[in-house]
Amino acid sequence: MIYLDNAATTRVFDSAVTAANEAMRDGYFNPNATYESGVKAREKIDAARKSIANAVGAMPDELVFTSCATESNNWVFACGKKYKKGNIVITAGEHASVYEPAMRLKSRGDDVRIAPLTENGNVDENALLRLVDEETALVSMIHVSNETGVENDIKRLTEAIRTRAPRACVHSDGVQGLLKTGSSLHDLGVNFYSASAHKLGAPKGIGLLYIRRGVNLAPFLAGGGQERGLRSGTQNTPYIAAFAAAVDEFGKVNDRAQVASLRAELCEYFDSHGCKALGNTSNSGYIACIQVPDVKAEILQNVAHDRGVVIGKGAACSGSKRGNRVLSAMGLKQIETECCIRLSLFADTKRDDALEAAHIIIDAARRLGSKHVG
Ligand code: PLP
Repeated sequence: MIYLDNAATTRVFDSAVTAANEAMRDGYFNPNATYESGVKAREKIDAARKSIANAVGAMPDELVFTSCATESNNWVFACGKKYKKGNIVITAGEHASVYEPAMRLKSRGDDVRIAPLTENGNVDENALLRLVDEETALVSMIHVSNETGVENDIKRLTEAIRTRAPRACVHSDGVQGLLKTGSSLHDLGVNFYSASAHKLGAPKGIGLLYIRRGVNLAPFLAGGGQERGLRSGTQNTPYIAAFAAAVDEFGKVNDRAQVASLRAELCEYFDSHGCKALGNTSNSGYIACIQVPDVKAEILQNVAHDRGVVIGKGAACSGSKRGNRVLSAMGLKQIETECCIRLSLFADTKRDDALEAAHIIIDAARRLGSKHVG
């Protein structure tokens, strides 16, 4: 099987499986207990937090483990708003786990403003800055689009936002960006940054929220006061260990430039066969969104799967909802959004596999009757 749906989730690294197994088999103690075995379990969490912090450019006490990035994003919207009153600005390119919490606040009467996208998929920076003002309490901007891989310049935007909205907290959904863009969290300058381990070779069900030092955020989950009172619930010691192991392994095997050049090669191939690669030059190297004329992505995805190639489709994260909010915001017609497939690479994706997959997809599109693919 050739697996090119890594933006959805990744295969778990063997080292992460081993780390989780060890924590379950030998280190299963309550990490909040004061007896020695519990203290050792706690020390493993601290060590994991320290090594992840080191890799992502944060201080260990700025990272709070959560169950997933959806929780991290919801937390910011549920509690970041209580922290300061005022309007909220998001981009039209947000993942549902940012967009829906924002819409929930809007339905409760909050002033939620949505910055449009350019046709390349970036947030329209001028429009975003026009929406931000002195009353802005929270701005949320996706770092790398899960749909197109387009990267927003979070550092520059955050600086510009701060000059207009000094009171605003800035959040970025970094699920597709963490360790894949080369930026350190501290350098980005944001107050909050969400991430998820299962995009990096760790299991599903563990994520984190970066909360910059000095920023107050009330807890979303109240209870036993774990994670320094910020996120109650007994810590997921096996998956925290796996998260740290995966980050470590990713750092060893990942070659960003190589992944980016493979993506560019794939996009060129599709472009030269009558398809259209969306995005722009600032694209993350890990995600390619390809519009395949005349063929519904869902059908192509299933046919490709039958031929041993696993790919994503544009509307993947929209669940059962028709169309694709993000691609539509880039100006695509509904019929065009339905013809977008997503190929997403990982640190261990082999060039030959990816190119073979591309041949299979083009062949399948031809057989499915596309008049433009050739
Ligand atoms: N944000 C983005 C950009 C994503 O791509 C995803 C998952 O695909 C999420 C948030 C949600 O992450 P999780 O599965 O950890 O809740």
